[in-house]
Amino acid sequence: MNEAINTINWPEMLTLNFTVSDLTKTNQKASNTPHSPVVYANLRQVALNILEPAYAYFKIRPKINSGYRSPAVNKLVGGSATSQHCKGEAVDFEIPGVRNYDLACWVRDTLNFDQLILEDYVPSLPNSGWVHCSYKSDLRFKANTKFKGSSIYHNDIILCVERKN
Ligand SMILES: [Zn+2]
Repeated sequence: MNEAINTINWPEMLTLNFTVSDLTKTNQKASNTPHSPVVYANLRQVALNILEPAYAYFKIRPKINSGYRSPAVNKLVGGSATSQHCKGEAVDFEIPGVRNYDLACWVRDTLNFDQLILEDYVPSLPNSGWVHCSYKSDLRFKANTKFKGSSIYHNDIILCVERKN
């Protein structure tokens, strides 16, 4: 780890309404401070391109469940080693009072994004799960739904899986 870069004090405000703390908080017992200017810049892009437009549209402050994950935190939460959270490119969030299915559809139809996932969704519970959304320079506009209890990522934001008899 580069100690010189650790001593840099990054501005706490990423954008008008979101801070580094908003995107680095964790309930895991491990340090979650980003030490890379690249991660910092990525977090700023996530706040600017995903969280700010969502806040402006819904007029409700997004509830951020997880933004950046340090390697230690990612290990503790059992996240994929290639997770975009580790690069500061992804955020898991919800809008209190808005169904996650509706939020995911709004993101899909409105924002520029890299990958959007309606995560751990339960078809009978429209507010179940959360919305994972990433942003980077080379956008893929990839939208997926992952139902709770399954590891399959279905294409698009969907309410249920079509059963084939
Ligand atoms: Zn996520």
